[in-house]
Amino acid sequence: MQCISSVTYSFLINGSPRGHVTPSRGIRQGDPLSPYIFILCSEVLSGLCNKAQQEGLIQGIRVARGSPRINHLLFADDTMFFLKASKGSATALMAILRKYEEASGQYINREKSSITFSRKAPVELKQWIHTETQILKEGGVGKYLGLPEHFGRRKRDLFTSIVDRIKQKASSWSNRYLSTAGKLVMLQSVLTPIPSHSMSCFQLPVSLCKRIQSAFTRYWWDGGKGKKKMAWISWEKLTLPKDSGGLGLRDIQAFNEAFLAKISIRLLDNPNGLLGRTLLPKYCPDGNLLSCTSPSAASHGWHSILVGRDLLLKKLGWVIGNGASINIWDDPWLNLDSPLRPMGPATQQTSSLVVSDLLLPATGEWNINLIQEVLPFEEQRILCLQPSTKGARDVLKWLGTKDGKYSVKFGYHAAMEELKEEILEGEATMEFDWKKTLWNLKLAPKVKMFTWKSLKGILPVGERLLARHINVDPRCKRCGSSESVNHLLFHCPFARDVWNLSPLVGSFDVSGMTDLRADWTELQALKCLPPSGITSTPLVPWILWSLWKARNKYVFDNFSGSPAETLSQAIVVAREWEIAQQLVEKKAHVKVSVALPQMKVVAQSDAAWSESSLNAGLGWFVSTPENHTEGSRSASFIPSVLIAEGLALREGVEACRSLGVKEVRFESDSAQLIKAINRREPPLGDLWYCVGYPSFVYGI
Ligand SMILES: [Zn+2]
Repeated sequence: MQCISSVTYSFLINGSPRGHVTPSRGIRQGDPLSPYIFILCSEVLSGLCNKAQQEGLIQGIRVARGSPRINHLLFADDTMFFLKASKGSATALMAILRKYEEASGQYINREKSSITFSRKAPVELKQWIHTETQILKEGGVGKYLGLPEHFGRRKRDLFTSIVDRIKQKASSWSNRYLSTAGKLVMLQSVLTPIPSHSMSCFQLPVSLCKRIQSAFTRYWWDGGKGKKKMAWISWEKLTLPKDSGGLGLRDIQAFNEAFLAKISIRLLDNPNGLLGRTLLPKYCPDGNLLSCTSPSAASHGWHSILVGRDLLLKKLGWVIGNGASINIWDDPWLNLDSPLRPMGPATQQTSSLVVSDLLLPATGEWNINLIQEVLPFEEQRILCLQPSTKGARDVLKWLGTKDGKYSVKFGYHAAMEELKEEILEGEATMEFDWKKTLWNLKLAPKVKMFTWKSLKGILPVGERLLARHINVDPRCKRCGSSESVNHLLFHCPFARDVWNLSPLVGSFDVSGMTDLRADWTELQALKCLPPSGITSTPLVPWILWSLWKARNKYVFDNFSGSPAETLSQAIVVAREWEIAQQLVEKKAHVKVSVALPQMKVVAQSDAAWSESSLNAGLGWFVSTPENHTEGSRSASFIPSVLIAEGLALREGVEACRSLGVKEVRFESDSAQLIKAINRREPPLGDLWYCVGYPSFVYGI
């Protein structure tokens, strides 16, 4: 009670605190205790409902035979009750609520509550329940957290509000004056997340995805005040990652799939959770989510989960424990980087073999003779896999990440993989290091975006506009030649003058420029002479930017500066930007040293590994106050140094166990291994069991 009664408030009025309020109830807003107190209270409500159900006073609703009856769900501060429409359950529920109100002091706001009846509920009963509960509103047609409360056949209209919200946000006045770089941030951090919640629950109809994409496209290309402008490259190309020449914008459909896979992996990992117990008996009676199909009568929610499941299938693979649940032909188990099955066909005798059949029962090691007989072409690969020596269970893991955990980010990459290839197919195949020669440069974001546009050749110059059938004079306003990107930025006499004046050193001759992308690596690396005062930012992109500004001033405002002015403009803004960057001080890293626990027994392990032969040498050393033990052995078919280190540690653990010591400090020089153990999230692979092992034995 201390934290509730000892608080006082004052108010900030014109910057100074005034007044003194001693609250008599409730705790300070934002107090970390607040949610716990709330949960404690809700727990009582939950308990009351469950007790009433056990006593038969109320009856929750179940979606299928075998699914649990659910009578209430709590979400943040909202509560939903699901009951059979009967006088008895209405009376019982009201009794529970009254009890809760009296005990907690939290009263139900009947104005904000509503009841949804099924279509078959008789009118008189509805009336009676309304009067009894004093809740007069009927729900079911509104929205909850931006999603419709009920789904009908026409899903398209139900989600339409998403597009409206995006358009509304995009057209707000603050967006009109953003630079391209600002727009990119706005698009990625404000507009793209708008449909996220809906996308993480349901599959959005394709037509809606297209409309969302088109709202994004319009925002990206159009100018302020609703002026429609030309889209210079397709949205698909913008969705390419930055190192492939795109901007890393989101493909809505792929993103939707990646979100849905999150629910599917939860069902896979935890089939006994509430969601699993509710849905699996209805749609997937045999419990195998990976192979079940979606009946046409299935709900949209289930259909969405299977869409996510299909994405998962692209990257799910088995990590071998005891091998008992993995069929050698049907399940992907040969590789931990991407799912891989042996090439068939299986013979009749071997078709039902599981991985554990390939292990020697006595030692748990591979039965090489049998492998040579059944899967001769996969011998090398199989021997590199390390099954558990302690009979751990096989686990299905997402192979797209190192630690086997699914995340939306990697799911999205997996969903985009094929799409990316398709998009890139039509692109010029020239190797170009976008990351190194553009995105990693120290440049103002807007200059970066402009350089990206120049490299993509999507500046609205005369020649390009004409190619797009826009009725303009394609000639350069200064010299009368055809205005191409190269002409404007390099070959126009005006541009030449600017380059000739520029304080750049290097042998690269700008006047010989024919292909900006081919020459870019050399060009952007040109160094700047000291008098300009520019040290860290490359000057070339700033000059390009300045040339473009000068061109627009000339074309639209009829203002012509001299080449020297254009150059000095570039240098001035580059320097200004550079100085501003220096002011942003880097935070000093504070190293925290952790005191090692004092232990009497210390076990050290180390490994040597050869990449060419895949052989490893393992060594371990256990020192106790009385004496010390050491050992070493060699191991073959070890696929990585990490696994070698893991195996060495395992030997150390085994040695400690045979000595019968209970408390040990394990030391290894592999930071990656130590990190994996401490996080209890071992990277995939055999290491899963190597490092899972010490915690199993010693509980560390
Ligand atoms: Zn010109």
